[in-house]
Amino acid sequence: MRKGELLYEGKAKRVFETDAAGVLWAEFKDSATAFDGVKKGTIKGKGVYNATMSAKLFSVLERAGILTHFLEQVEGRSLLVRRLKMFPVEIVMRNKVAGSLAERYGLGPGTELKKPILEYYLKANALHDPMMNRNHVLVLGYMTERKLSHVEGEAARVNRVLRNYMRRRGLELVDFKLEFGERGRKIYLGDEISPDTCRIWDAATGEVLDKDRFRFDLGAVEEHYEEVVRRLTA
Ligand code: UDP
Repeated sequence: MRKGELLYEGKAKRVFETDAAGVLWAEFKDSATAFDGVKKGTIKGKGVYNATMSAKLFSVLERAGILTHFLEQVEGRSLLVRRLKMFPVEIVMRNKVAGSLAERYGLGPGTELKKPILEYYLKANALHDPMMNRNHVLVLGYMTERKLSHVEGEAARVNRVLRNYMRRRGLELVDFKLEFGERGRKIYLGDEISPDTCRIWDAATGEVLDKDRFRFDLGAVEEHYEEVVRRLTA
């Protein structure tokens, strides 16, 4: 498979065409941003860690019957993926209180939620990805009822599968962000699943093992990304 023309460059990824129809090449970068792009830095090795963790977890999800865009990991830091038409909606799933949920509602970080909370955000950098409710997604026409209902069901399944998989490896899945897209009549999970897009704590000690180490200057960022990948791929 050959890497073709650059289609898109984001904060953490470059996406290229390939010589195969319907297949894209997603290359994960070591650069990191936080707080809406205000904080910038480099996490050495992150591209390989994020590609490796995504590849592993997409495979776990596929085995559980969830459709994902993942095809193959190449050159360490890249994934070959199915080309999708992405919905402009980010789905956040939360099991415990953290991040913006703690801030917005004045809740103590780490509080267990009675059941998972699903949130919707519009993918629109210039608008700072505003939070939406279900009515915004439907009435403003970002997704149809049928597609949104399907995505909500898939997001809940992804949460159950990943939470169990991580728990068996001593990891607590606190919250995470998903992006879905469609191809023909089918809906697939896209994007990535990595310490950049998930909050993951050590189940025994509560130690933070994800991008919050970068956001809040907790130190040893690379070592903790590596530890998560080591446990998930062991
Ligand atoms: N998240 C993400 N991309 C975004 C916003 C959030 O991957 O643009 C992830 C984030 O890493 C966390 C979860 O979604 O695992 C919930 O994020 P939150 O709303 O708490 O926002 P934050 O405080 O991280 O900005």
